Amino acid sequence: MEMLAAMYYAPMDIRLEERPVPFPGPGEVLLEVAAATTCGTDVKSYRRGHPLLFQHPPSGFGHEVSGVVASTGAGVTRCAEGDAVVVANSAPCLRCYYCQRQRYSLCEQLLFLNGAYAEYLLVPEPIVRQNLYKLASSTSFIAAALTEPLACALHGVDACSIMPGDTVIILGSGPLGLLLAALASLQGARVIMTGHGVERLALARTYGAQGVLDVSGFSLEDQRDRLLAETDSRRGADIVIEAIGTPETWTLATQVVRPGGLVNFFGGCPAGTSVNLATHPLHYGELTLTGVFHHTPAYFAQALDLIQGKHIDVEALITARLPLAKALEALQLLLQKRGVKYALIPPAFQQQLLPPVSHQ
Ligand SMILES: [Zn+2]
Ligand SMILES: [Zn+2]
Repeated sequence: MEMLAAMYYAPMDIRLEERPVPFPGPGEVLLEVAAATTCGTDVKSYRRGHPLLFQHPPSGFGHEVSGVVASTGAGVTRCAEGDAVVVANSAPCLRCYYCQRQRYSLCEQLLFLNGAYAEYLLVPEPIVRQNLYKLASSTSFIAAALTEPLACALHGVDACSIMPGDTVIILGSGPLGLLLAALASLQGARVIMTGHGVERLALARTYGAQGVLDVSGFSLEDQRDRLLAETDSRRGADIVIEAIGTPETWTLATQVVRPGGLVNFFGGCPAGTSVNLATHPLHYGELTLTGVFHHTPAYFAQALDLIQGKHIDVEALITARLPLAKALEALQLLLQKRGVKYALIPPAFQQQLLPPVSHQ
């Protein structure tokens, strides 16, 4: 049997191909993909490759996914053929130095799963065991596919210890910035966001941001001034979350936090970059600086609970639903900064999930 699958060959070279449908070995699950959602990491990987994810191309592509169990390997008890499920894109080894200390996102052998932009996806045993969940019948496949980014955002806000009434500045209004805003406002924070583009900034308000600054064309100094002006007595925010991933905005983050506040470097910068920070505010201002990467099985489970309990309307992030065959067009649109996220729907689910207008 053959299936349609997007394969990564090199930066800017992803091909839609016919590939053999994999067969599940012991402990594995073959997932028939219902929805795969695009992610900023996908766009970055398409543009410049990824040091961890695509070491042996050609390789499957895409990592936010939900679907129906097509078949199971020997010994699988968590699910059965026909179940609607969501899977995470990784699983920790549970044995290494970091896993023993419950720092699962730092696992030395974190297993990554790619290949969501396809009709079928083979889910490895460690992910089946730790990070596969059946969906409630009221949960949509598209919302379920967004469990992964929401889990990353949960990890991000958890590192901030937000208190009700805190002012939280979020730099960047990409999908993760928007989810961080939603979670921070759920925790009672007053959220101020920066970003570009009417569409994203309107979404920022939908997700609870009270101050929304369009920083298109503003210098970093102007951004700093305008952000400080949004805080009480220009003191700076209690918490600043950087969700862009450039050294310049990492530096900016440290300039708009109040003394005693916390800066969360959530956005990963290109490898080999560094920042130069003023020492005095760090020392005399007693700042806390922290980095956050990826998610853990516990955050994945918690994110799914939030989605299934309808506490966050994650589907509002989806700009459009497109047939899987248009995966490359979706990546091109995102490279041109058009849209926030797209949901890719394989042929078998198009009648159920694609609005009629997309068939034109
Ligand atoms: Zn993602
Ligand atoms: Zn480990």
